[in-house]
Amino acid sequence: MPTQIEAKRMEVIIDMLQHIGMEKEDIESDFLRYLCHTLGRNITSEDYYLYKALSYAIRDRLMTHWKKTWEAYNEKKLKKAYYLSMEFLIGRSLTNNLLNLGVESETEKAMYDLGLNLEEIEEAERDAGLGNGGLGRLAACFMDSCATLQLPVMGYGLRYEYGMFRQLIQNGYQIEEPDHWLGVGPYPWEIERAEYTRVIKFGGETREYVDPHTGQLIVHWEHAEVVEAVPFDVPIPGFKNSTVNTLRLWSAQAQEGFNLSQFNAGSYHEAVAEKAGAENITMVLYPNDSSENGKELRLKQQYFLVSASLQDVVEQWKSKYKDFTDFAKFNAFQLNDTHPSLAVAELMRLLVDKEGLDWDDAWQITTKTMAYTNHTLLPEALEKWSVGLFEKLLPRPLEIIYEINHRFLTQVSMKWPADVEKQRRMSIIDEHNNVCMAYLAIVGSHSVNGVAALHSELLKEGLFNDFYQLWPEKFNNKTNGVTQRRWLAGCNPELRALLKEKIGEDWITKLTDLEKIEPLAMDAKFQQAWYEVKQNNKQRLAEMVERETGVKLSIESMFDVQVKRIHEYKRQLLNVLHVIHLYVRIKNGDTQNWTNRSVIFGGKAAPGYAMAKNIIKLINNVAQIVNADPDVGDKLKVVFFPNYRVSAMEVICPGTDLSEQISTAGKEASGTGNMKFMMNGALTIGTLDGANVEIREAVGDENFFLFGLQTPEVEELRHHYQPQNYINDSHALQSVMSLLESGHFNQFEPGIFNDIINSIKSPTDPWMTLADFQSYIEVQEQAAQAYQNRSNWLRMSIINSARSGIFSTDRTMKEYNDDIWKLEPITIKN
Ligand SMILES: *Cc1c(COP(=O)(O)O)cnc(C)c1O
Repeated sequence: MPTQIEAKRMEVIIDMLQHIGMEKEDIESDFLRYLCHTLGRNITSEDYYLYKALSYAIRDRLMTHWKKTWEAYNEKKLKKAYYLSMEFLIGRSLTNNLLNLGVESETEKAMYDLGLNLEEIEEAERDAGLGNGGLGRLAACFMDSCATLQLPVMGYGLRYEYGMFRQLIQNGYQIEEPDHWLGVGPYPWEIERAEYTRVIKFGGETREYVDPHTGQLIVHWEHAEVVEAVPFDVPIPGFKNSTVNTLRLWSAQAQEGFNLSQFNAGSYHEAVAEKAGAENITMVLYPNDSSENGKELRLKQQYFLVSASLQDVVEQWKSKYKDFTDFAKFNAFQLNDTHPSLAVAELMRLLVDKEGLDWDDAWQITTKTMAYTNHTLLPEALEKWSVGLFEKLLPRPLEIIYEINHRFLTQVSMKWPADVEKQRRMSIIDEHNNVCMAYLAIVGSHSVNGVAALHSELLKEGLFNDFYQLWPEKFNNKTNGVTQRRWLAGCNPELRALLKEKIGEDWITKLTDLEKIEPLAMDAKFQQAWYEVKQNNKQRLAEMVERETGVKLSIESMFDVQVKRIHEYKRQLLNVLHVIHLYVRIKNGDTQNWTNRSVIFGGKAAPGYAMAKNIIKLINNVAQIVNADPDVGDKLKVVFFPNYRVSAMEVICPGTDLSEQISTAGKEASGTGNMKFMMNGALTIGTLDGANVEIREAVGDENFFLFGLQTPEVEELRHHYQPQNYINDSHALQSVMSLLESGHFNQFEPGIFNDIINSIKSPTDPWMTLADFQSYIEVQEQAAQAYQNRSNWLRMSIINSARSGIFSTDRTMKEYNDDIWKLEPITIKN
């Protein structure tokens, strides 16, 4: 072992050696060295190997700063925040890391000199699809913004072997294929840190005994099965600021020397099967968005994430400080939905059982450090786990939850002494013996936030009203955002160049600067430049659509896009009904002042969600009929773009004219797709739901296509909803429904859409699709007419982009930090 002084000297030498050049020649030679010497390939190899070699070369350029950032965060006593999330929908990393490192143009030149095309190499990277949709993508955008704001924030998640499934479309149906995103050979954007392996317990039982020295009652969790959590660290560079934060993803591994006794007794198979069982925990991401799944393995995943991450933080703390007096002053945990809400019980367990703290002290620490973000109002998404499953898998955390609940209900009964009903309603354990994870999260946190203004209000009025009455001070709003590094600078290079020419590039870290283009909104020359950028982006999108679907789109048509998870509340069905309406109009010759349209759908359905899968089939069947009809031609094209994912959205949102955000009012918590489209100059057609409300406030009523019932109207109508009345009252809807019911779109597959038809005609349809049909088609027609006035459309497009500044996650993260975490930004010296 070297002495401290020797080690320090070595570091200085290494630092000097490591001063890696950022010039074209440096990148070129490192790239070639990795390609030929490390990977054993050459310049004519598949793009995939070129991407790997280039990624290693770029990763090298992050390492020194990564280490410096880590040291800066650990040498002084400073507060840190930990973002706990079951999902990080990262997508590709190479493009983003080139941008944030500021080496895009040198890299592009280096590749060009070698006769290679950087864009093609970038496209060989597979998406890291470790999330379902908005919630997971938000976590990834948050990480980017925290690094850019120089905040000491670390992400904790799971390293699923298989991410979100790959979606194929066969005969109009969704087919799911496993997504081995790690690819062949090591993934270049992670570093295994086996030295920080943690041990996680499942099963067994608890035993109480009295400590002979202190006389204290101690609980032991015994005879548990143990699984190792091995961390893999992913670097998260800030934008040109030398900060490189860490996303730590845990991978499950059987403990070394697993079950040797069984092994020796000759139970080779059983022992190996058990090893495989342990490693199952992080095998696959559950592909359900906005719905709970109640599977044993899912609960194991949740506890695995929470226990590994909290042990990691507690151990780091103990390595530096003698006790936990200051722990709450220097640590903050943000729970991304209820998925990691077991953190409340697990931190109590670690502090009480392992560290010997009093319950009350431990509870102080827990509630001061935990904060909970709610992402949905849908009842079917609220996680509940049966007490039976808890007893079997997590006996000690369950006892702790019982104790938390007991003390909490005492508090409730003191506040409302006569109200037994209230105690029953608020109990963390419900009347069916389920643990309500949202209630555990609220009780154990000092902050509870929704993700858009409307959503946060609805939480206080509805779902969490009892808790709001008890603790109004806990409730707050943090409207979501997206990172403009990926969602504008990275994905729309032509618009970036135009913006640079007019207003410079400060908007890359200060998005409200986009306001500076607003004075140009009516400038004919600027409009023309804006138009050309949009047309080029539509061309790029049209080429991608043709490659994937074979359908040719005209870039002269209006690109009308709805891409997001397929869910009834998002109402892709309403959009399909509008498409059928347009088709009927064409067939009837009702086409005066027609605006040609290309309607693009995309999104995955949860594999067990039959209705959502059937909606995909309907879209595809309608597309087939419409696209094949010679009467239709360019007037209308319909495509279902398969395998919607982050890298697809990077092409889709720059090429969109009209963004469909048409959920039933009160159901979409925020939406973030809406913000990506707006930033890239699309106009929104939408309901007053989620962040649409704030988007409309920002752009003004005249630059937004609003339709549909509002939340209170939806709730009122529920009591006497009669969809048949809407059909009777609307000629257009009658034609659409009769064509659909006639089997016109499923001539060879009779009856396959009956469930869809019945659902929208049912008085209990929770999404009230038909109630909004008439106002939707009217506003769609307004949008179509507006599109014909090119100059006015361009003005609106420019204004949408110009006023998207508040929807940067830089703003969102600043608010989390100012109101909840209270961290000091740390400058990392270059
Ligand atoms: C932004 C994004 C989402 C979220 O879209 P919403 O329209 O807000 O539901 C989902 N999936 C991907 C791949 C995204 O990029």
